[in-house]
Amino acid sequence: MTLPFDVAAVRADFPILETEIDGHPLVYLDSGATSQKPRAVLDAERGFLERANAAVHRGAHTLAAEATELFEDARVTVAEFVGAEPEQLVWTSGATAGLNLVAGSLGYAGRLREGDEIVVTEAEHHANLIPWQELAARTGARLRHIPVLDDGTLDMRAAAELIGERTKVVAFPHVSNVLGIVNPVAKLVTLARGAGALTVLDACQSAPHLALDLPASGVDLAVFSGHKVYGPYGIGALWG
Ligand code: PLP
Repeated sequence: MTLPFDVAAVRADFPILETEIDGHPLVYLDSGATSQKPRAVLDAERGFLERANAAVHRGAHTLAAEATELFEDARVTVAEFVGAEPEQLVWTSGATAGLNLVAGSLGYAGRLREGDEIVVTEAEHHANLIPWQELAARTGARLRHIPVLDDGTLDMRAAAELIGERTKVVAFPHVSNVLGIVNPVAKLVTLARGAGALTVLDACQSAPHLALDLPASGVDLAVFSGHKVYGPYGIGALWG
């Protein structure tokens, strides 16, 4: 089979693929869970630790200034990656932390009360389910699920019925980690806006595969994580 890219060149970018398992070259098919890291990322991390590591935003010495500049340059790079402005991006420790921050902040700000509804889909990663279950339990709000049809797509007719004047939040994945389905962001945003609800996009699985323009997508908030887009563990972003 001829592939539309140079497999050997791509494999050469990922040192871990030189590993052999049971005498066979490693074939890694779990990138949806976490991606392997290309040489450029490994070199950048090592270079930072060898030449610029210092406390960011809290030191006055040369190295601290250098580390702070690199930290803020990364915010610009990541913001550009999703079509956004750097000041719209909050660093988190990952997508789970981003979603907990959003759900926790809405609860803290008293934005939900008994009788309100939070709408998610039936095909959520736990990261976009448990924070909303907890918020519902804390506030007395009701958690509702947009059903998934037999072909894996969302039942948009049911969504139109579910999302209404009680809905305060509609939180959904851009691309499902369970099914790989690309959800209709614009249609869900239209339904949510019509109801005056906030939209929260879990962009974890779309960030590695689709060109993202978060401001143009119409969602209010979005999260994604570094370790699924060739970056290290322990970093993610909340955009809003
Ligand atoms: N949302 C989706 C759709 C995911 O696939 C994952 C990770 O598997 C997460 C959220 C959680 O991301 P993180 O590991 O950055 O917390």
